[in-house]
Amino acid sequence: MKRLTCRDVGLDCDYLILGDSNEEVASKAVKHAWEAHAISAEEMTSDMKTRIKENIITTE
Ligand SMILES: [Zn+2]
Repeated sequence: MKRLTCRDVGLDCDYLILGDSNEEVASKAVKHAWEAHAISAEEMTSDMKTRIKENIITTE
């Protein structure tokens, strides 16, 4: 299992994103950013995208 919190991406939000793979978590993070923060994939800064990749951790 992989996990990422929205806060790790740099937003003031404790939403927890879980998935079976980094790709799944990353795509859910993009979806959440849009639904909860009105940030579209196009509007995401490269810093945010990097944070998504770097902060996904493996959990039990
Ligand atoms: Zn959030």
